Amino acid sequence: MPLEPYNSTRIRAVRLKPGKGRESLGRHPWILEASLVESVSPPRLGEQVDVLGADGRWIGRGLYHPESRIRVRMYVWSQDQWIDAERFAVRIGQAIELRRQYLAGSGQVDGLRWINSEGDFLSGLVVDGFAGHLVVQVNARVLMPYLDGILGQLVEQIKPLSISLSIDEKTARSEGLEVQERLVYGQLPEGTLSLRENGLTWRVDLVGGQKTGYYLDQRENRLAASRWVPSGGRVLDVCTYAGGFALTLAKLGGCSSVVGVDSSARALDLGRQNAAANGILGGVEWEQADFFEALSARVDRQELFDMVVLDPPKLAGARDKVPRALAAYHRLNYLAMRCLRPGGVLVSCSCSGRVSRSDFVEVLLGAARRAGRDLQILENRGPSADHPVNIHCPETDYLKCLIGRVL
Ligand code: SAH
Repeated sequence: MPLEPYNSTRIRAVRLKPGKGRESLGRHPWILEASLVESVSPPRLGEQVDVLGADGRWIGRGLYHPESRIRVRMYVWSQDQWIDAERFAVRIGQAIELRRQYLAGSGQVDGLRWINSEGDFLSGLVVDGFAGHLVVQVNARVLMPYLDGILGQLVEQIKPLSISLSIDEKTARSEGLEVQERLVYGQLPEGTLSLRENGLTWRVDLVGGQKTGYYLDQRENRLAASRWVPSGGRVLDVCTYAGGFALTLAKLGGCSSVVGVDSSARALDLGRQNAAANGILGGVEWEQADFFEALSARVDRQELFDMVVLDPPKLAGARDKVPRALAAYHRLNYLAMRCLRPGGVLVSCSCSGRVSRSDFVEVLLGAARRAGRDLQILENRGPSADHPVNIHCPETDYLKCLIGRVL
């Protein structure tokens, strides 16, 4: 796709429907298909466009995709700025500067989100680093013409050992791209990669792991949870993946037994490898099961824990899935509370961007009422600070992690 050179006299404008300007006036980076007036000569794929309000007022500048639900991705809010390699380089520089500050204050961390898409005002671009190896996820086709420049910036500013490009199935479908998983720079490590986090060693599957290989966003929440587990306590970690919470709690929290539950055998296998890599030999059990079944079975047996962690996958992927997702969160939290001894701690997470923080608090309230228990919120947390939230885009406040005591 050729890059459209900027020509100020030729830049095309698209117009918002009346009453649809609120999101963009608020600097929301997505202009959805339904918000735009149909144009007689619609812009081409990747074309830079000016977005005007229904009253003709200039709002911002974005890149157009004629077939994506996100019709325009906004990158610029000032009329004297253009979307070009230089603009992206500035944004990448700002993102990297924040991570350098974060690293300076966080001890040994070698798994890090360098660029967090909308959270860094770079809609559609995610860059994760694993012990010097970068995984670049492109979630927007309109970024493709800028990709070489972006990769060049990453090489220059981060000096990685390798860069892998990843375009997942969902993006490929919605953006009209091909699924990709390939090395675009440097050399991959031989064998599995290990990274250090919270004083533990974690094995990372760079290609084929879930997400980009490891859940970096829960780094600080794992540490926070470990402060609330009583020494010698019993823990149930539901949706453990590779043992993220379970092993941190075993190692740092000093609990006597942890059960890690996940529906994926492959994830649990990685969990076993991580346990061995950290010398955690006893006290950890792995159980391949569905979350509802694992919790219900324990309620039936009246088995009680000192801490239950709930970290299910995104349950509300689309807007119409929200009511069902809320019902599932309610059931999970209700069952988890029934598995807690009086004074036990619930660590409850939701990574659905479409479920707001206040809705999630409401779910916990409903679950506590139904369980007939008092719930105190001890910590109302988000992702680690290398996943900044763009306040203009509430969807970036996707990860909620509430730590509460259940009496
Ligand atoms: N807590 C983990 C991340 C969890 S990601 C960490 O700290 O790293 C969500 C996990 O939920 C995935 O590993 C996925 O395999 C698992 N999962 C998805 N559906 C499930 C279900 N119905 N029952 C149990 N686990 C499920």
